[in-house]
Amino acid sequence: MNITKDTSSTIDITKELKLLAREHGICPLCGKETLEIAAYVYEVSLVGPILLTIASCNSCNYKFRDLIPAKSLGKKVRIVVNVKESNDLRAILYKSPTAIVKIPEEGLEITPGPAATGQITTIDGVLEGILYFLPPICEQTDNPSKCYEVVKHLQEAMEGKRSFTLVIEDPLGASFVIKSYGTKIDVSIEDI
Ligand SMILES: [Zn+2]
Repeated sequence: MNITKDTSSTIDITKELKLLAREHGICPLCGKETLEIAAYVYEVSLVGPILLTIASCNSCNYKFRDLIPAKSLGKKVRIVVNVKESNDLRAILYKSPTAIVKIPEEGLEITPGPAATGQITTIDGVLEGILYFLPPICEQTDNPSKCYEVVKHLQEAMEGKRSFTLVIEDPLGASFVIKSYGTKIDVSIEDI
């Protein structure tokens, strides 16, 4: 009997990984601040992005691995994230091309344009994006002073000085939020 070992079917996933974030955290096992956390994203055709989190502690050798596929739920979902402190801003999220972003406290609703792409970012990354495009268009809004107030509030939120709610409504149900280490965010997912 001839057995041919097919090596071509083995994919070295580490070559395809894109580093998303690297940070330090508190080890859940020994409590020391020697936990190294790395988040990677891996693009899989047809499936979409897969998020890989690897953490290891330099003091006690604690190791953690987590793989989260951004699988579409196939139905509309609303993800509600309550952001209360600066650590929460580091939570990682995947925003699909069809996702609508809302910050109800500020009356903000951002609808994706036709050329929108999926984006893996953090909560402060979302705020950063809004703070990039909003100030230049404040003068053209119905109420410029209200618009500048929203900008000020978002800047305070970026610094962790203001709590807010981030709502992601996704008709494709493909968006997701993960609680990175150190975040205490409340995430709820509702069908809409
Ligand atoms: Zn440890």
